[in-house]
Amino acid sequence: MTHQVYGRIDGPIVIIGFGSIGRGTLPLIERHFEYDAHMLHVVEPSDEPANFLKQRGVHFHQKKLTRENYKQILNELFEGTQGGFCVNLSVDTGSLDMMKHCRELGVLYIDTVVEPWPGFYGNDDAHPSEQTNYALREPVREEKRENPGGTTAVSCCGANPGMVSWFVKEALLNIAKDTGHDFNPPKTRLDWAELMRDLGVKGIHIAERDTQAPSYPKPMGVFVNTWSVEGFLSEGFQPAELGWGTHEKWIPENAGTHEKGCQAGIYINHPGALTKVHSWCPTPGPQYGFLVTHNEAISISDYYTVGEGASPEFRPTCHYAYHPSNMAVLSLHECFGASKPQAEHKILDETEIIEGIDELGVLLFGHKKNAYWYGSRLSMKETRTLAPYQNATGLQVTSAVLAGMVWALENPEAGIVETDEMDHVRCLEVQSQYLGPVEGHYTDWTPLTARWDRFKEQTDETDPWQFINILAS
Ligand code: NAD
Repeated sequence: MTHQVYGRIDGPIVIIGFGSIGRGTLPLIERHFEYDAHMLHVVEPSDEPANFLKQRGVHFHQKKLTRENYKQILNELFEGTQGGFCVNLSVDTGSLDMMKHCRELGVLYIDTVVEPWPGFYGNDDAHPSEQTNYALREPVREEKRENPGGTTAVSCCGANPGMVSWFVKEALLNIAKDTGHDFNPPKTRLDWAELMRDLGVKGIHIAERDTQAPSYPKPMGVFVNTWSVEGFLSEGFQPAELGWGTHEKWIPENAGTHEKGCQAGIYINHPGALTKVHSWCPTPGPQYGFLVTHNEAISISDYYTVGEGASPEFRPTCHYAYHPSNMAVLSLHECFGASKPQAEHKILDETEIIEGIDELGVLLFGHKKNAYWYGSRLSMKETRTLAPYQNATGLQVTSAVLAGMVWALENPEAGIVETDEMDHVRCLEVQSQYLGPVEGHYTDWTPLTARWDRFKEQTDETDPWQFINILAS
């Protein structure tokens, strides 16, 4: 099978972190870029991938990046060469510091989350507002404002955050077409925000159902997930967090707001993985999701704001509504019940998953046709035919990294960007080959149909899309 080569990367390609996402990204880089083979490097603290990388002729540096050594390690790998690409797929590395340094070196940069250095997550001394993704994202936005333009650094370009921002744009265009809305093709951020406002969209769920499963039951005392356990635990313990829409009439008592920055989001003083919301995906129909904090909840609400500050003219509510694999749900239950994470962690890989899909999309609600889900319904079975060394969840992430790398290569002087700010048509053009069926589904479901909520003290019958109805009792 021949694969399209999207361009040449001059200089070293350095992959930081070689866990489930690094391992899945490597074959896509090998397929889709031209580069000097001796310039491909992996930096990873564990020696586990040493043989695998040796067999492929990839330089392996068994090192752990720290606040103290990251500049030196990046300098050694990039200095004296022209160009290059730093692909940060690790946990426990400071994304902003690395992005800044790569830009100083003239090296393209991409990551899939704003990752902090160790010490940020689980810091009981920090105020809840300081443990949010808002707190991680704002300094990246500030850096963009203070140092506009220059070498491209793509922030948060995985599946979510990442690909889902491209889905939001495609979903808006589809809703506009299907409702006969007359509009000029959006060109600027404000055009997109006004299109969302004019379509009557009140909010967006990043609505995901992962049904991937192995042949055996969940072993006791093991946290089982389909991607980084460490990453999921970190975000699951953070306060629940969401972009806060202008249509909302009620705010949870334990919610907090931000005084500084874009003010597009609020947080809830409760761990995201213990905060359930009503949502909808095509396979299950109505389902519970966890309101786990994610960068895109804030970035999407911010991007689609008309007006400024805490009281703009329009802003959508946006949050994650994540139903992870059943094993991960059980793992969370066990972990929270025991008040400590399991000592053993396991990522289900392609060799042991026997069934299931990762259905990951965006649910746009409040418009003339009620609610519209648009996304990828990628099965493990199809994933095996598309790319090696990963499950369906992984491929949705790694193919977004590929698309982001292609975009960066084609736009090398775009400065710091989030995926909302990239050309979604080009990115999906590159990525779609790896997404399985990408489909749009309208539904007449609303959160008011959740019958257990009759025990709830308050609901708002006048508007099904109020957050008070979405937050489960
Ligand atoms: P993983 O836990 O499988 O792998 C992380 C790797 O980072 C490990 O191999 C670990 O040894 C390495 N690492 C840890 N500390 C390091 C350091 N100081 N320097 C260099 N490497 C270090 O995780 P994963 O599933 O591969 O996820 C990788 C990253 O991608 C995480 O930050 C995760 O949150 C993110 N992610 C994003 C999305 C998305 O859609 N945006 C989806 C999945 C994962």
